Amino acid sequence: MDFDAYARTAVDLVNSPLADLDDLRALFHGDHVWMCDEVCDRDLAVFRRAGRRLRDVFEYGTTGRDADAVAELNSLLAAFPVQPRISGHDSNDWHMHVTGRGASVSAEYLAGAVWGLSVWLCEYGSARFGVCADARCGNVYLDTSSNCCRRFCSERCATRSHVAAHRARKRAAVEDKPLLPVS
Ligand SMILES: [Zn+2]
Ligand SMILES: [Zn+2]
Repeated sequence: MDFDAYARTAVDLVNSPLADLDDLRALFHGDHVWMCDEVCDRDLAVFRRAGRRLRDVFEYGTTGRDADAVAELNSLLAAFPVQPRISGHDSNDWHMHVTGRGASVSAEYLAGAVWGLSVWLCEYGSARFGVCADARCGNVYLDTSSNCCRRFCSERCATRSHVAAHRARKRAAVEDKPLLPVS
C-alpha cells in the first residue's frame, strides 16, 4: 500500500468544500469509476462528519496535543475499519480495495484516508500535521520539510502572507516617522 497517497487523500478531504456530490467526485480523481457512479447523499453526510474529525486531528497535531491526535485517529480507525480485498471491475484489472464487498463509497475512501494518516503519524509524528497559517485559508497539509518548519499549505499562501506582512511593516514605518518639529 502507498501510505503517503492514502494520507494525502485525508488532506484532500479536509480541504474540500464538500458542498455537493461533485466536490466528492473531484476527490476521486477519476481513479475509481464505481465511486463516481455510486456516491450518494448519504455518503456526503458521512464525508462531512469525518472531514471535521480529521480536521481536529490536524489541529491537535499542530498545537502539540499528540495524545489527542492519537485518540481521535484510533476512534476513526474503529469507525472506518480496513478490510483488504482484491477487486477487479472490468476483466482482469486486479487491484486492492481497503473495504469488503458491498461497502459504501464513504467507507472505502475513509478507511484508506484514516489508515494512511495513522501510518503517517507513527512514521513522522503528529507535529508534522499542519494548518495553514493564513487564517483566511485554513487548509491542512502534511509537513515534509526537512526541519519541520512549514507554516503554509502552499506557495501561494506563503507569498500572499509575506506580501501582506511587508505592506503592514511599510505602513507602520510611515506612521512611526517622527513629526517635524514645529517652529
Ligand atoms: Zn477499485
Ligand atoms: Zn493556505
